[in-house]
Amino acid sequence: MLLETVIGLEIHAELKTNTKIFCSCSTEFGAKPNENTCPVCLGIPGTLPVLNEEVVNLAIKAGKAVNCKINNYNKMDRKNYFYPDLTKNYQTSQYDLPMCVDGMVNFTYEGKEVSVRINRIHIEEDAGKLVHLEDEPVSLIDYNRAGVPLVEIVTEPDLRSPEEAAEFMRQLKGILEYADISDCRMEQGSIRCDANISLRPYGSEEYGTKVEIKNINSFREVQKALEKEEKRQRELYEFGEEYKIKQETRRWDAGKGKTLPMRSKEEAHDYRYFPEPDLTPIIIPQEKVDKIEATLPELPIERKVRFVADYGLSEKEASIIIANRTLAKFYEDVVGLGGNPKTVSNYILGDLLRLLNFNNMEPEDIKISPKNFVDLLKIIEDGKISNTAGKEVFKEMFANDKSPEIIIEEKGLSQISCTDEIEKLVNEVLNNNPKSIKDFKAGKTQAIGFLMGQVMKASKGKANPPVAKQMIEEKLNNM
Ligand code: ADP
Ligand code: ZN
Ligand code: MG
Repeated sequence: MLLETVIGLEIHAELKTNTKIFCSCSTEFGAKPNENTCPVCLGIPGTLPVLNEEVVNLAIKAGKAVNCKINNYNKMDRKNYFYPDLTKNYQTSQYDLPMCVDGMVNFTYEGKEVSVRINRIHIEEDAGKLVHLEDEPVSLIDYNRAGVPLVEIVTEPDLRSPEEAAEFMRQLKGILEYADISDCRMEQGSIRCDANISLRPYGSEEYGTKVEIKNINSFREVQKALEKEEKRQRELYEFGEEYKIKQETRRWDAGKGKTLPMRSKEEAHDYRYFPEPDLTPIIIPQEKVDKIEATLPELPIERKVRFVADYGLSEKEASIIIANRTLAKFYEDVVGLGGNPKTVSNYILGDLLRLLNFNNMEPEDIKISPKNFVDLLKIIEDGKISNTAGKEVFKEMFANDKSPEIIIEEKGLSQISCTDEIEKLVNEVLNNNPKSIKDFKAGKTQAIGFLMGQVMKASKGKANPPVAKQMIEEKLNNM
């Protein structure tokens, strides 16, 4: 049976605010356990929440960045559950009137136009973090994260493969980063996703039973977890056992590379949602929405189109460069100082990304100044050093951002173009290789290649190759 995969994502992203959603505790990551807490975010009875306006502003911005309609009247609700990561025993979230609805994200992936409808975006508080100590019969709780503001972005089930789902997450991360809505530091869990997946026979209008995989925090893991679950469901279908696919929540165990059952799916009524009595409804004047919308910067998709049009990059090249805001800025800074757009792109996509990867660094860690980069390109273009030497200088600049002139001087990399110096080397090589001369005279033109190699070696790679080659040929022909 031909089966179609159907995926919808629920993505949680921490908002980039200085303070928490209902109190003035810091949201900074990496503080000592429970340092960033107060009676409000610890849920002490008798305390009252005050909504942080910046949370509303950023959620509106997120909504507009993915083409949502903003609900001018929305409200907070209590989602009740009993779990130690939430001292209040309810999460203050939004239920039937979320802040944003009906959005759309479009992107191209592997030549296919993908449109993903956004069902809703709501704001809510994050929960604390349980720390399970190895070999200790206790679990510890860090409430620093309790009350950190989140947006939950819920897509319609419009994704059709695990790869597409991972790509959507990348696209969304790019949008949130560009618009300064979230830091999206995946390793710190500031963007994480629950992935829902089901299969159905091709052509079927109805969706199959979905399984939800909880709390995945990297693109690679999203894809892997979905692939694994897709395979599990597909096998059940193939054996006619699809009735065994239960609507349930599964956990992704990255270490084992499997999804494991966690609990059967809870329904909305399990949460006994009701309006938050301690907070007034949120009323957002349209002027506020318009004002925030006007502050949206150029987003990744628009920037990609512009990079292709203005700099003659391929779609693929542009996609890689714009995927990171810092990298895109670096590119434009270098090109802005006169770097050839294609050459700069080649250096970035080749040497720079390789060096970053190798050193486990992010584009944010790039030390090379655009000025030194452009100077280096000019030096290569002028033939003062070879392309190979250029790569060596670039590597050195990557490590310490010295000026290329200084590095060339220190490493003695200047190309020898002076004909006198090259002639001396050529004469030496010809004197030492009478056999090659004989070969050449006998019609074996490959001898030139060998002699060239010897000249380059004698010059430690610094001889200007075209000059040297021409000189060898002339001398051989006149012998
Ligand atoms: P629930 O009521 O279980 O919370 P929702 O309809 O609110 O389900 O959807 C939650 C998420 O699951 C959304 O991201 C949605 O796109 C996705 N989803 C819904 N139905 C399916 C399905 N049959 N297959 C895959 N994903 C689905
Ligand atoms: Zn607090
Ligand atoms: Mg739901």
